[in-house]
Amino acid sequence: MSLEIDRVSKSFDGKSAVLGDVSLSVEDGEFLALLGPSGSGKTTLLNIISGLTAPDRGKLVLNDEDITSVPAARRRFGMVFQSYALFRHMSVADNIGFGLRVMDRAERPSKADRKARVEELLAMIDMAGLGDRYPAQLSGGQRQRVAMARALAISPRLLLLDEPFSALDALVRRDLRRSVRDLQQRVGVTAILVTHDQAEAFEVADRVAVMRDGAIEQIGTPDELRARPATPFVESFLGLGP
Ligand code: ADP
Repeated sequence: MSLEIDRVSKSFDGKSAVLGDVSLSVEDGEFLALLGPSGSGKTTLLNIISGLTAPDRGKLVLNDEDITSVPAARRRFGMVFQSYALFRHMSVADNIGFGLRVMDRAERPSKADRKARVEELLAMIDMAGLGDRYPAQLSGGQRQRVAMARALAISPRLLLLDEPFSALDALVRRDLRRSVRDLQQRVGVTAILVTHDQAEAFEVADRVAVMRDGAIEQIGTPDELRARPATPFVESFLGLGP
């Protein structure tokens, strides 16, 4: 699915704009990272995309459909957050299958199909045979892979990732970045990642939007940004300065 963000603005409590006229398009199957320092508006933009926050102005178009004020259009969005938010009282398999179980009757796969889909996802995250475990019995990296599998189970129209790696230690984080990228490509889902970590954005994303003070300072492929940072801010934030 392609996503078009058209001049989106947002302020809270009548204060100055957290986002000012942000426009951006994400192509079908693309992995885009929103990268910027804390407070630059990344999460607010992601929350507007997910429907958690309503924009003051502007428009969101998903595959030619204006979804700005259509919460139902977001039901098939997959989301992964920093804190894994797995259901603690549910097994890994039940966590992964959750989104499939609560689908509308018309769309919901049969029990056998749901089980097959969960098995397939367990294999994809290298956790075949671990469906009976509970979240407390998993490592942080495994939990985050389960969260990925749960988000992907519903064949999401869009995958939204908010700092999904930041609670993990460096080694696990590197490993997980690779599996997230790999899973995204295998499933072919359009993905948007929020991060303040330049290395992370450059490793997983096709394109990176560098944000500052509620605006996109520059957007491009990692190679483009490295070769031609458009402003001194981008240059120093990416650690490219002299
Ligand atoms: P980032 O994700 O880049 O760290 P955020 O989008 O979380 O940035 O925040 C951008 C700015 O908006 C910050 O100054 C933050 O304090 C403010 N902000 C975010 N959400 C709210 C809210 N619900 N109410 C008031 N201010 C908010």
